[in-house]
Amino acid sequence: MRRHAISRRGFLAGAGLGALACGRFARGAAAPPPNVIIMLTDDLGYGDLGAYGAPGNDTPNLDRMSAEGVRFTDFYVPQPVCSASRAGLLTGCCPNRIGILGALGPKSVHGLHEREVTIAEAVKQRGYATAIFGKWHLGHHPRFLPTRHGFDTYFGLPYSNDMWPHHPEDPNYPPLPLIEGERVIAENPDQTRLTTWYTERAAAFIRANRDRPFFLYLAHSMPHVPLYVSEKFKGKSPRGLYGDVIRELDWSAGEVLAEVARCGLDSRTLVIFCSDNGPWLSYGDHGGSAGPLREGKGTAWEGGIRVPAIMRWPGTIPEKSVCREPAGTLDLLPTIAGLAGAALPEHPIDGKNILPLMKAEPEARSPHEALCFFWNNELHAVRSGRFKLHLPHSYRTMEGQAQGSGGKPGKYASARTELALYDLGADIGERNDLAAQRPDLVAEITERGRAFEAALAKTRRAAGRIEKEI
Ligand code: MG
Repeated sequence: MRRHAISRRGFLAGAGLGALACGRFARGAAAPPPNVIIMLTDDLGYGDLGAYGAPGNDTPNLDRMSAEGVRFTDFYVPQPVCSASRAGLLTGCCPNRIGILGALGPKSVHGLHEREVTIAEAVKQRGYATAIFGKWHLGHHPRFLPTRHGFDTYFGLPYSNDMWPHHPEDPNYPPLPLIEGERVIAENPDQTRLTTWYTERAAAFIRANRDRPFFLYLAHSMPHVPLYVSEKFKGKSPRGLYGDVIRELDWSAGEVLAEVARCGLDSRTLVIFCSDNGPWLSYGDHGGSAGPLREGKGTAWEGGIRVPAIMRWPGTIPEKSVCREPAGTLDLLPTIAGLAGAALPEHPIDGKNILPLMKAEPEARSPHEALCFFWNNELHAVRSGRFKLHLPHSYRTMEGQAQGSGGKPGKYASARTELALYDLGADIGERNDLAAQRPDLVAEITERGRAFEAALAKTRRAAGRIEKEI
């Protein structure tokens, strides 16, 4: 990996060099860096895939992908909600470091700042073709769109698919735009087509760029509510509509993998599958499953922040590998930049290169002494080794509440945890509080978390903001 860092200006200059580099790769004078595909699902839970223990046979393609690569058991998103999580994935930064919190909507006047460096911008230095098909959610105003953040091609929704006039609780949303490039091409699009549209474009992009390195970000809108599925998957899963949607997402993964194989790119393509946060439990039968984990989306319990993560790269990642070390989406930017031979951003980031973990090297250990989980700007939990500390905080829970059904949500109750310590190695469901028995660990992990929080507070950067709504 190149060690030097470059500025935003350097990135812009680098884009021109990248074009030259691409020509060199095409002539075979140097081995090209690998293609990278990230398939991200929205609100899919830790317990929703066969490879993670889901019953039935709704995910054969993803289960096969897992068997052909590495499955991470302890993979995290930095915050358990859409915009914040995506900001972290694409920049390698804690979302509160860069001012992208919660879920942006049509009234938001902020977005990802132009100074931030996305994975797309990082690999552009090395001549990659870049595309996003799906949900962006880092600002819907033109200056914040993917095309201003390193992506050559964009087709998808600017924010969540429930932010439209058919919202079950708020009919005041404006029409939901479908965007191509920077142009709105439809309003309130037929959502039964979204997964198909994204997938067809993803396959076409792979085909069109088979002779040059590419970065493809396939950011599905599903299985975020409202759930929609195409005719060919309707009524197919015993799990109901949610299962049908999962089957279609699995089909999509199968199509992507098949296209990679057809183009002869298996050994040159790293494919990553993960989710942006845990299941939206208040939606009951229209929400996913966190499996053995406690709680779901919107909480710092494992069900909110721990997600399925599968990575496949034949010839580089050994088959049937399992990684049990803590890592997460923040690590994708530095890892992919390393693979591409691209410089890291000049400003502080929070992710680390986890290539040894991806390759399941036997001695590889997590590069993180502590993983800190904030909700907005408040530190809620710290994972250190096999232990996890909760700082005192309030959270939402569906425990004891009436479940939602048929697309209508139930109501969350508010609950509170005091300082609590769990041994995730023995207690994945976070039920047996060891704080009173292990004051040494409580003190040590608290110190780590507070030190990280203090250092981050000194180097925080603001989000981009428009002067007035446009
Ligand atoms: Mg989400």
